[in-house]
Amino acid sequence: MTRILNIDEKSLNEAKSIILNGGAVAFPTETVYGLGANALDTSAVNRIFEIKGRPNDNPLIVHVHKDFDIGELVKEIPDYAKKLAQKFLPGPLTMVYKSKGKVSSAVSCGLDTLAIRIPSHEGAQEFLKYVNLPIAAPSANISKHVSPTSAQHVFADLDGKIEIILDGGECKGGIESTVLDCTGEIPVILRSGLITREMIEKTVGVCGEYAYKEGGVARSPGMKYKHYSPKCHTALFDFSEYSKALELYDAELKNGEKVCILCDNSTAKLVGERRYLSLGGTPEEMAANLYSKLREGETFAQLLIAIAPNMQGGVMDGVMNRLTKACRN
Ligand code: AMP
Ligand code: MG
Repeated sequence: MTRILNIDEKSLNEAKSIILNGGAVAFPTETVYGLGANALDTSAVNRIFEIKGRPNDNPLIVHVHKDFDIGELVKEIPDYAKKLAQKFLPGPLTMVYKSKGKVSSAVSCGLDTLAIRIPSHEGAQEFLKYVNLPIAAPSANISKHVSPTSAQHVFADLDGKIEIILDGGECKGGIESTVLDCTGEIPVILRSGLITREMIEKTVGVCGEYAYKEGGVARSPGMKYKHYSPKCHTALFDFSEYSKALELYDAELKNGEKVCILCDNSTAKLVGERRYLSLGGTPEEMAANLYSKLREGETFAQLLIAIAPNMQGGVMDGVMNRLTKACRN
């Protein structure tokens, strides 16, 4: 029932008419696929939550075309935010501002802030230009499942629930955008991603990072939920404990479990004859491959044993944030 369409005039026209009629369309971005609806239309926004089974206190990001004047939607844009936008947009950086209240309040789940993103993916830009509206979108997966990085991933989760998926190929970035709170004196990272703390510091001098503590008040409601999880059991080991991971593998295999290790290229050299999926060598490769490997693993393994790569900082922070949440049982 759901059709996967190449991006051309015909599919863009169809996407536009679905959006104008209050429906939702899946579209590619440079990070993951999004499930978009008209941000000005409350019932359209509510459809997104229904389709995904998403908790209604987990806000959505508004996606706009690069020529869109975001001053229409948000109040103050601090100087540091202007500098960062200059440097990184369009790109995988979402910026949170005080909302003018023009988009539906369902988008931000009642918060007085609005998260805005200008994706760099050509197909996303074409779609946003065609519809000429702010588009509210979370990732195009069933809530809590692994985010989709291909049209086929979206189809696997949402077949029968939406009419069309605009196919822009495999997402190059692979993990969701960095979410940056731009409502205070200094920018604060709410969710790590491909635009790293180091890159932000280099551009504007300072960058904070918000660490959600279990039971605390979530600045960004997404923080408190289980996320990005494959449909199989998982275990996560620090690199320093890789031999324990291998012991678990051997014990579970003996029990008749279908097991698989998830690691990087250098750790793969240590696993011997055991079955593994490698995320790649560099943090960027690992970000690009993480979700497709989690989805591949869940198709055959009953237990995925992840071993954290022996690297920290930069893009690795985003990769480990997702991997940790994916392996939270
Ligand atoms: P996703 O649904 O996976 O694309 O994630 C969207 C994420 O953007 C949410 O889970 C929040 O972390 C973040 N977000 C969206 N709107 C806001 C906001 N107003 N304030 C803080 N974080 C936000
Ligand atoms: Mg998501």
